Amino acid sequence: MQALPDAMAAAVGPERIVSGEVTAVARTDGGWRVTLADDTVIDGDAVIVATEAWAAEPLARGVDERIADLLAQIPCSSSAVVPMAFRAEDCPFDTKWFGILSPVIEDRPLLAVTLSSSKWPDRAPAGRVLLRGFVGGPRNQGVMERSDEEIIEMIRRQFVDLLGIRADAQPVFAKVYRWTGGMPQYTLGHLDRVDELERRAAAIPGFALAGGAYRGVGIPNCIEGGERAVSRLLGEWGIALEEDSAPQPRTR
Ligand SMILES: Cc1cc2nc3c(=O)[nH]c(=O)nc-3n(C[C@H](O)[C@H](O)[C@H](O)COP(=O)(O)OP(=O)(O)OC[C@H]3O[C@@H](n4cnc5c(N)ncnc54)[C@H](O)[C@@H]3O)c2cc1C
Repeated sequence: MQALPDAMAAAVGPERIVSGEVTAVARTDGGWRVTLADDTVIDGDAVIVATEAWAAEPLARGVDERIADLLAQIPCSSSAVVPMAFRAEDCPFDTKWFGILSPVIEDRPLLAVTLSSSKWPDRAPAGRVLLRGFVGGPRNQGVMERSDEEIIEMIRRQFVDLLGIRADAQPVFAKVYRWTGGMPQYTLGHLDRVDELERRAAAIPGFALAGGAYRGVGIPNCIEGGERAVSRLLGEWGIALEEDSAPQPRTR
């Protein structure tokens, strides 16, 4: 995943990127002003708010109250992913698969499994099997209260039950990554809310929203949404975003 932002940063030029927590987005006479938590002020022609919905809401509040209200209606759930490596001899199952999704009817604490060592090359050394468990989600937020050790053991037991890993096998590596409020939930009426959000944002010159909170959480959806936001803003100045106009990453 890091390859994607690295390539974009290289294309833009790292020296032109300012990072930090944005505390305010406001219209100025000629454009937009973004203020960071350390009081850095950035003035620009346009602003794309591409944070999670709950983070976009306070930033949009000073721009358009209705946009902020609509953003507040997009709930987000928390989840955790846990890469766990096992000795190959503890995993007596076929490894020619990439992943499993566990439907709600299964009523399992484990929502999904990725067999990372089969899905991607060079993710695990020879003799090791790398799995990734996915827990949490809107129906199982309670799991987020548990300790890392409890979550690892819970997933290990699921792997034993689902995949046939040896019952006493312990991971040789395990790490819990928590994504708090990282997964927007498209509840009933979501598309109507997004339509209205986009209509209102489009009526504000130099302002756009982008990200997984609106029209798809998958990475390709997020890329498409980002491109749509950029195209719309460039369109305000009569500039078309060509398919092949993206700058090529600089070689280091
Ligand atoms: C556990 C998990 C597993 C997933 N697995 C997959 C997968 O296998 N395949 C797939 O296609 N998708 C997957 N997704 C979905 C996908 O990763 C997300 O939908 C996507 O990354 C969202 O991108 P985004 O840019 O909208 O938001 P984010 O990646 O959440 O980026 C928003 C950024 O805004 C920053 N931010 C928030 N507030 C501020 C502020 N005030 N100032 C400055 N910055 C701020 C945050 O720190 C964050 O970096 C997964 C999601 C999760 C949570």
